[in-house]
Amino acid sequence: MNNSATLLALGFVRRPEWDWANTEHYCLQHGGAIFRAYVVEGNPPGVYVRLGLVGNEKGAAHWRDCISEGSVARKLAEAERTGAWPTELGRVVSLPAPSKDMLFEDNDGKQHRVVYICYIDGKPRDAISEQIDMPGCGSTWDFEEDTKMEEPGYYMYYESGGFGLHHQGIQVFCSYWAADGFVLHDTGKATRLAEPLILTQSMSRNPFEGNREVLGLEYCRVCDAFYDEDWCPDHHREKKDGGVGYRKGFRKKDQPAPTPTIQEGASHE
Ligand SMILES: [Zn+2]
Repeated sequence: MNNSATLLALGFVRRPEWDWANTEHYCLQHGGAIFRAYVVEGNPPGVYVRLGLVGNEKGAAHWRDCISEGSVARKLAEAERTGAWPTELGRVVSLPAPSKDMLFEDNDGKQHRVVYICYIDGKPRDAISEQIDMPGCGSTWDFEEDTKMEEPGYYMYYESGGFGLHHQGIQVFCSYWAADGFVLHDTGKATRLAEPLILTQSMSRNPFEGNREVLGLEYCRVCDAFYDEDWCPDHHREKKDGGVGYRKGFRKKDQPAPTPTIQEGASHE
């Protein structure tokens, strides 16, 4: 069973300045690399060590779950033997300086560089970025066409995952662009593009340019309208906990099998 003694036995030392709420972090310099680790309650239940290879003082990339002292030791030895962290589907080896046109700022004011974009039917579907001030720390972004714009070709995107720069998988028949140094494995039948596509509305290769970040990609289940901080004006209400709920008559219990309805001749003079 892992606990903090597991890490201490392997030579880790406490690094309080890395702590998150409720987690005590430990540091180990080993084989020319810096590792960061903490102990968590896992799912399935049990205690395991989460081990990361540190990109810099602020962040860690490529987290791994270790379920025993032996597995922590094996992963450390593997890093020493290969000089690198074992690859998943993709990982950043060493990225060249970011090109200016592939940078963007998120809604929190953080600067990112785009390292990977997946397209379906020529439209951005998802992308991965690396935070400029935290090398090795990335975010995954999902894209959908912006339904609030009258013309097609505008996109909204939201941060669907973060912390750790690795590629989770690739759509079978997509095309994709990846920055030099962003290594992908098992890309299947996907087509690699030499350059990101130029999007029709923004005339930019950067899918974050001219488009907007949203809190999520949620749609009203009654009328299928997209909602963000503006809820569906016809079907939503604020719940007691401040969350979004459905108005009377449109709740799940009111409508066991809700189907979108088309109103015909709904004019009231
Ligand atoms: Zn609605």
